[in-house]
Amino acid sequence: TRRRLGRLKEVPAVTRDGTRISLQANMELPNEVGAVLESGAEGIGLLRSEFMFMNRPDMPSEDEQYAILRGVVERMGGRTVTIRTFDAGGDKLAPALGCAIGPNPALGLRAIRLGLARQDLLEAQLAAILRASAHGPIRILIPMIATVGELRATREVMNRVIRRLRKKDVVLADPLPPLGAMIEIPGAALSADSIAWHADFFAIGTNDLTQYTLAIDRSDEAVAHLFNPLHPAVLRLIQFSVQAATRARIPVCVCGEMAGDPRYTALLLGLGIRELSMATSNVPVVKSQVRGIDLAAVTALARQIMEENDGGRIAALVDGFKIDG
Ligand code: PEP
Ligand code: MG
Repeated sequence: TRRRLGRLKEVPAVTRDGTRISLQANMELPNEVGAVLESGAEGIGLLRSEFMFMNRPDMPSEDEQYAILRGVVERMGGRTVTIRTFDAGGDKLAPALGCAIGPNPALGLRAIRLGLARQDLLEAQLAAILRASAHGPIRILIPMIATVGELRATREVMNRVIRRLRKKDVVLADPLPPLGAMIEIPGAALSADSIAWHADFFAIGTNDLTQYTLAIDRSDEAVAHLFNPLHPAVLRLIQFSVQAATRARIPVCVCGEMAGDPRYTALLLGLGIRELSMATSNVPVVKSQVRGIDLAAVTALARQIMEENDGGRIAALVDGFKIDG
């Protein structure tokens, strides 16, 4: 099967009925570009930018960030790179940001909250990303959005940075990069219909969405067995977010671990997802699933699953569904 999966690189990710599915890669380190290209991913759906300031005592400058991001974008050779602004705090520590750990880091000053509190840092990062956008297609993704206000405030910061760069005659992408929201907080998913009007795209982060919906620390071994993205509450939040994005006519991607698990491919496509971003090593096996899927059949599966309210029954339906390989 390894050889079979290897050959999959050359064939497109299309369902049996001919619908194109976009399979993209999650990336944590800049030296992974080779593996991304090798996997057959059509772009980077989630570039976790935390690597730039972890394991170092200071913050990288705007120029330093620009050099790294430009390198990634250039090596991706015209494929879209979705760059997420720093998601520090919680499980992702960054000494340079001097994050007050706070009584509960998962609920504390982290991700975009930290960016809006420290706008000097956010501005430097947005400037680096915008400058890199002159070298290839980029999307900008904002982590841990909870409110429309945060997304609007972020867009204001971005517009300020754009004006500053233009005044210095810096070349930027035309059109400017889209600005998207991570949907990974239950409250954001429940207000996805409002957020969709202010976002150019959605990326559903099922890792945090599951963690916060079920109140289960994703890094705590003692409760790992209870972490379940098939919980009906999580599925309803995903479904509502997809429907909101569809109504607002913006693209929606799933980029949590769920997207890279072949067990869930049928259900996610059945819920209306057409974009998945995952660890590079999972791209071939998910592509193989996609190519066996009939959209009408998985839409019926999703409809049936959404009527269930028992996690065990849902798991049985998911596992019992057979895809033609
Ligand atoms: C997520 O929360 O699902 C996600 C994709 O982001 P991260 O795992 O980096 O928090
Ligand atoms: Mg997350």
